[in-house]
Amino acid sequence: MTARVLDGVPIADAIRAEVAGRVAEHRKQGRQPGLAVVIVGENPASMVYVRSKGKACEEAGMHSETIRLPADTPEADLLGVVDRLNTDLKIHGFLVQLPLPKHIDAERVLNRINPLKDVDGFHPTNVGKVSIGDPTGLKPATPYGVQEMLLRSDLDPKGAHAVIVGRSNIVGKPMASLLIQPGRGGDATVTVCHSKSRDLPGVCRTADILVVAIGKPEFVTADMVRPGAVVIDVGINRVDDPRQPKGYRIVGDVAYGPVSEVASAITPVPGGVGRMTIAMLLRNTLQAFGRAGGPKEPAWIARAVAPSCPPARLPVCPPARLPPCPP
Ligand code: NAP
Repeated sequence: MTARVLDGVPIADAIRAEVAGRVAEHRKQGRQPGLAVVIVGENPASMVYVRSKGKACEEAGMHSETIRLPADTPEADLLGVVDRLNTDLKIHGFLVQLPLPKHIDAERVLNRINPLKDVDGFHPTNVGKVSIGDPTGLKPATPYGVQEMLLRSDLDPKGAHAVIVGRSNIVGKPMASLLIQPGRGGDATVTVCHSKSRDLPGVCRTADILVVAIGKPEFVTADMVRPGAVVIDVGINRVDDPRQPKGYRIVGDVAYGPVSEVASAITPVPGGVGRMTIAMLLRNTLQAFGRAGGPKEPAWIARAVAPSCPPARLPVCPPARLPPCPP
């Protein structure tokens, strides 16, 4: 069997075009969704991601801001930037690019972000909402992209056994939350594996849908895949390759060639899930824009995120007073 290739490029492009269409409609009415990205330091991979996010945002017609801070920025200064963005009426969604330098407590920073503007979906409020299936929760872009990719490829996870390898807060756990929810894109039976899982190959072989996000180049081999399974490779790894002009190439967590001979469908790396992540980030920004009611943020949002207000006391938004989310 040679697997069908789940190409992320046309799917992501379609989503980006849909977002751009919605943005154009808002702009005709003088309203423009805005996304800001904060980067601390000069991690080369992060700089590439941040540039791509800014470019994608502009291409979608959104207002885009990139805030670059030096690697030795004190945590208090970064929190100050977060507080400013929390109340900036031009910015409807923003994210702080991870990883952060070691002297900064990433959890404290993420928890300071107004959950309504948390387009990465990492704030505990959004994590909680996604885990209980509350549609107002902002979903982390990568697992959200995987779910969308499955649906748009006519691979409904309903009733399937999905095995997720990796339990990180940004991919594995939210992936499980999304696939286990009742309804569209969910209703799977979900198993989550990690580095302490016993008989990982055996568990992987029980998967109808195998999602791999561990950060280990070509870790999943053909003998770990049930014939006919759908394989989603989230991994992005640089491996040395002197034959390449840059001296390296990008591979996933799955041994693509051999696994393609066993699986019924597989995502390539690059060009698979990675392409979906930015598309879903734009969609989240549109969702956040809809929740904020366009250019005029309700006064209670500004109060909720006033810098003097400790994060633990942020009021939960009263859904009844909010305008409906865009579909
Ligand atoms: P992470 O935070 O490092 O988590 C890795 C997870 O993999 C952990 O849960 C770990 O288990 C598990 N793991 C590691 N080695 C394992 C093994 N030998 N067997 C079973 N489980 C193992 O990684 P992440 O942030 O989720 O990222 C994972 C990969 O996805 C990376 O390559 C990253 O670059 C990529 N990624 C891609 C996108 C995208 O847009 N496509 C977005 C995010 C991440 P323990 O918890 O037991 O340690």
